[in-house]
Amino acid sequence: MSTVTPPSRLQQLIYAKDGSLTRDLLLYPGEYGLGKVPAGAKPNGTTTSVCGFCSTGCGLELHMKDGQAVNLSPAVDWPVNLGMACPKGWESITVLKAHDRATQPLLKGADGKLAPVSWDEAMKTFCARFKDIQAKHGNDSVAFLSTGQIATEEMFFLGSLAKFGMGMLHGDGNTRQCMATAVVSYKESFGFDAPPFTYADFEESDVLVFVGSNLCIAHPIMWERVLRNPHDPKIIVIDPRRTETAVAATHHLPLRPKTDMALLYTIANELIQRGWIDESYIASHTNGFDQFKQHVAPYQLEDSLANCGLEPSAVMEVIQAIHDGQRVSFWWTMGVNQSHQGVRTAQAIINLALMTGNIGRPGTGANSITGQCNAMGSRLFSNTTNLVGGHDFTKEEDRQKIADILDIPVVNIPTENSWSYDGIMEGIRRGDIRGLWVIATNPAHSWIHQQEAKETLEKLDFLVVQDMYHSTETAVLADLMLPAAGWGEKEGTFINSERRHGLHKKVVPAPGEALADFQIFRLVSHYWGCDSMFSDWKTPEDVFQVMKKCSAGQPCDITGIRDYRMLDDARGIQWPTKEAESSGDDWMPQPQRRLFEDGQYFHPDGKARFIFEQPEAPGEVPNDAFPLHLLTGRGTAAQWHTQTKTSKSAVLRTLYSTTLLVDINPQDADALMIEPHDWVQVQSARGEIRARANVTSSVQPGHVFLPMHNEVTNQLTYPQFDAYSRQPSYKNAAVRIVKSV
Ligand code: SF4
Repeated sequence: MSTVTPPSRLQQLIYAKDGSLTRDLLLYPGEYGLGKVPAGAKPNGTTTSVCGFCSTGCGLELHMKDGQAVNLSPAVDWPVNLGMACPKGWESITVLKAHDRATQPLLKGADGKLAPVSWDEAMKTFCARFKDIQAKHGNDSVAFLSTGQIATEEMFFLGSLAKFGMGMLHGDGNTRQCMATAVVSYKESFGFDAPPFTYADFEESDVLVFVGSNLCIAHPIMWERVLRNPHDPKIIVIDPRRTETAVAATHHLPLRPKTDMALLYTIANELIQRGWIDESYIASHTNGFDQFKQHVAPYQLEDSLANCGLEPSAVMEVIQAIHDGQRVSFWWTMGVNQSHQGVRTAQAIINLALMTGNIGRPGTGANSITGQCNAMGSRLFSNTTNLVGGHDFTKEEDRQKIADILDIPVVNIPTENSWSYDGIMEGIRRGDIRGLWVIATNPAHSWIHQQEAKETLEKLDFLVVQDMYHSTETAVLADLMLPAAGWGEKEGTFINSERRHGLHKKVVPAPGEALADFQIFRLVSHYWGCDSMFSDWKTPEDVFQVMKKCSAGQPCDITGIRDYRMLDDARGIQWPTKEAESSGDDWMPQPQRRLFEDGQYFHPDGKARFIFEQPEAPGEVPNDAFPLHLLTGRGTAAQWHTQTKTSKSAVLRTLYSTTLLVDINPQDADALMIEPHDWVQVQSARGEIRARANVTSSVQPGHVFLPMHNEVTNQLTYPQFDAYSRQPSYKNAAVRIVKSV
């Protein structure tokens, strides 16, 4: 007696009306996922997954009941978090259950309103509109903006589909907003985008220098690792604000905003003048030191007050601490990356590590801390700024290598680089780009100079937004909204700040008709007519195996990672892990691996480079009309970016003020006759917002601070970009404060 398999829920939802799709395409949505959680999960047991919020990459244990996760706890045996999690991680499941989850495709009708349509109609409309735009205006007239929030395999699929299948040239990601500066600085200095550290370094250092990093709040589990440090370390914080991290530090240098390059050059010069450098390391492993030495010679310690607003004695204490340290580590995040000279500032940090020989040893390094859970995946495998696997679109041998691995014609691979995010926005304003596909990011909230960003998106002929939530500031502008599954509702891998690939799994069903981004890309490839190019990519793990091949021979080589099960069993594996290292089926790499232990960098001569430049004032500084310097940044450990997820948790909402607060120094508040909690208007040349005054000495006189999470903050920010990384400078705008009546 033959048995007829009933169509799965998704088969019924997506394909019943059309019926034209192949069995092969149906396999992934129908057969994989809930109930077949990979790597050892049991319907009523516990399985592990890497967290989907920030780049720390904590391991979580998901507790399953009847095949679904009902609760979670931090994984004790995960080499990242060692049994700890921050509030966001604890609430990872809660935020999936929000009322504004996108559950059906939505298409804008003639009345200008979004209305539900079938996936079949959504896909036909998507392809027809984009192909029509390409036919009229050229292939490059459609573009995509991706994210650091989806799985590496999904990024790989999207980038391959868009560029090799759909003929797009331009695609970038929201990682431009957080990590582009670190990418460019590492590439130029080390020869590859290679953060050298491992989290054990937080515990190994005897001196930790944080530049523009409020680790306590932005990366609380990394801060916990600092607190475990048994060496009674000196902790130096370089930040205009007296942040939570600065309060806990042994030394705080509250410099004037955007004078960090001058300060770092001053420190370098003083170290050189005193002979407190590692001449042997410099000679053996670097290039350009003599020119650097000349460049920093004018940066005298006694000028610190004039140049940076810092007492020379305070700067000297830090220089002495760096000299006295045996294992000095330098860390930076958005205070450096989001700067008009971010790349050269990051390289000023790298230069300090190189000249003092503080790299490649435990507890050392010039270490960029990433933002999003998969920013590193985006940097290496999204096919945006690099050809996948850290390759170069402009190099013929790289294009041929990838074409051979993917078995596609090499002519399908663009020979030039994409425009960066700001270039894509500029292209829309000029009318060169008319169709845009936005995946898991929210530029109408997060892009700098928000009003201009919204007006830019409204110029598009066709805007497709693919997201978990239909309510984001960008989704409501969409012509077509595609409902996506989120973390926990699909599987794939992320790469964290210390280069660790970690597996996340499907442990709950996606709501309604929402699909994994991976499935959506499969659907698009089918309706576009290029699915034969990706016919072997049926599951994320299939794509992971392709990623491995693309990484072969690169600094980010992961050919030694056998499969998802190995990743799961190891609790994540750092790159590089080469096939040649492995020794048998049960081989596991060391859980903590740092780069440059042999002093060999990725430039052809094996040496790192000293790179430097003259500091310049930012494009906008406080003036008579707008006398205050606006700083923006992370609000609390319970908030994440544009709050599309974290605002959905009642627990998290109790951990931050839902009223927008602007931090203002007591001196400025007195001068403006502002009392704590008064309503005020914060005004810049670009906009005006309302907030309550938080009178606090955590900001200096003349400075104010706003959390980036509120939807109005970027109405004020000033659109300036680093010349090399094109990363927006979110932390310098001139504003004034007026008491509300
Ligand atoms: Fe998740 Fe980051 Fe919190 Fe860890 S620190 S639990 S990775 S959000």
